Amino acid sequence: MRLIFLGPPGAGKGTLAVTAVEILGVPQISTGAMFRAAASAGTPLGLKARAIMESGSLVDDETTIGLAKERLAQEDARAGYILDGFPRTIAQAEALAGFSAVDKVVNFELPDSVVLERLGGRRVCSSCGFNYHALFNKPKFDGSCDRCGGKVLIRDDDLPEAIQKRLEVYRSQTAPLIDFYRKAGLLVDIDASGPADEVVRNFRSALGL
Ligand code: ADP
Ligand code: ADP
Ligand code: ZN
Repeated sequence: MRLIFLGPPGAGKGTLAVTAVEILGVPQISTGAMFRAAASAGTPLGLKARAIMESGSLVDDETTIGLAKERLAQEDARAGYILDGFPRTIAQAEALAGFSAVDKVVNFELPDSVVLERLGGRRVCSSCGFNYHALFNKPKFDGSCDRCGGKVLIRDDDLPEAIQKRLEVYRSQTAPLIDFYRKAGLLVDIDASGPADEVVRNFRSALGL
């Protein structure tokens, strides 16, 4: 199955994707994670992306589309994928339609207040990228990842100023994709406001899994 996860930053897309990957047996493809990996590796792409990410803006469409297209062409994405964080603009969605046919677009619905609560407490493993939350999903040992023992930190773009900017960018650039995909008959809304196990149940029933 070829899915897009669409929703504001902090909606819980990455978190649900971890479970959805197990259910569906397809890879999670996160352009944000790819940009962060490039930034850690210090590649030219990563250095460019780091400054943009820290400001809360979007990396330019041409660069992002190139990255996603290359990743979708890899063997493991043939049987399907979960796109988490791509497309984020109409231009990206139009480009994607030219190189891959998605089956469904899962639209995460939740109030802004919950988004802010999730983003404000987000913690991420600096080694494996696994997500935690300071209140809702703490690592067993403070500051250390359950999965790999890596350091669990606040992301550079989860500071208050960048959070505000990212929400604005979501509303102006990404939210128009809801209508775009609804018109295309691909949109499936899920209530993403509850606890993680409830979101998994809503996802399963919305997709008949
Ligand atoms: P979140 O889930 O909190 O929105 P992501 O990990 O998806 O964060 O993305 C982090 C950052 O990486 C974004 O704020 C943006 O700067 C960049 N980025 C990720 N995906 C895209 C995309 N499709 N287009 C442009 N920039 C992107
Ligand atoms: P996104 O990928 O959409 O930006 P994340 O999956 O990174 O969102 O989730 C943002 C934060 O909210 C993380 O700290 C995560 O642990 C937490 N979180 C995710 N889903 C839920 C949920 N259903 N209930 C409570 N907290 C959640
Ligand atoms: Zn880890």
